[in-house]
Amino acid sequence: MRILIANDDGFRSPGLAALHDALSAIADCVVVAPDRDRSGASNSLTLTRPLRAHRQANGFIAVEGTPTDCVHLAINGFLDEPPDMVVSGVNAGANMGDDVHYSGTVAAAMEGRFLGLTAIAVSLASDGVPEHFATAARVARELIEALAGREQPAHIVNVNVPDRPYASLAGWRTTRLGNRHKSEPVIPTHDPRGRPCYWIGAPGPEQDAGEGTDFHAVAAGCVSVTPLGADMTRYEAMPAMREWITACARG
Ligand code: MN
Repeated sequence: MRILIANDDGFRSPGLAALHDALSAIADCVVVAPDRDRSGASNSLTLTRPLRAHRQANGFIAVEGTPTDCVHLAINGFLDEPPDMVVSGVNAGANMGDDVHYSGTVAAAMEGRFLGLTAIAVSLASDGVPEHFATAARVARELIEALAGREQPAHIVNVNVPDRPYASLAGWRTTRLGNRHKSEPVIPTHDPRGRPCYWIGAPGPEQDAGEGTDFHAVAAGCVSVTPLGADMTRYEAMPAMREWITACARG
């Protein structure tokens, strides 16, 4: 098996190294990651300038681009043989609920899916400075080993792992996305030259974090595994939408 490993925290991230360590035991791995922290990049592609890739001493390839650029470039560009799977992470921080729309970690996996591959995103859900990347990396390895011979049931598998030693995990849960309240306000400040500038505020606290959600599983110390689809169509809204459109046509 050949695995393409990517992330959004950049090629120096400890989560990337932990994932590479764990997956190298079960597959041929190639690592292609942004040259800096591109968290929050979502599914962005760089379309206004050329992309350069730099092979590092440890074999990792650092790309001057987004997480999506990395996966796109690797699969459609410089890899001689396509991988069987894209695994993204281990992200330094959770990607749960609404986070998945902003996440570069999930986006890197999604790009793998768009290019026809099995895709897994792995994040370490930490309250403070993330520590137990090895736990999340081992979870990823076990998930991939258990997938052997099975049809992947989702477009993207989004995994969030509590930040604790592996032996302290309370179990595994199949979950749905919860959601958050709206984000904290933007923080206005001034730069040293007195010009106004702004920091994007923190994500909002959990709103839907009940039983069955990713938030709930992680709070209970469990690995959260959410099957995601790339199709954002809201099917249950289609009848009301048709009525609306009919009213337009009559007008
Ligand atoms: Mn990140």
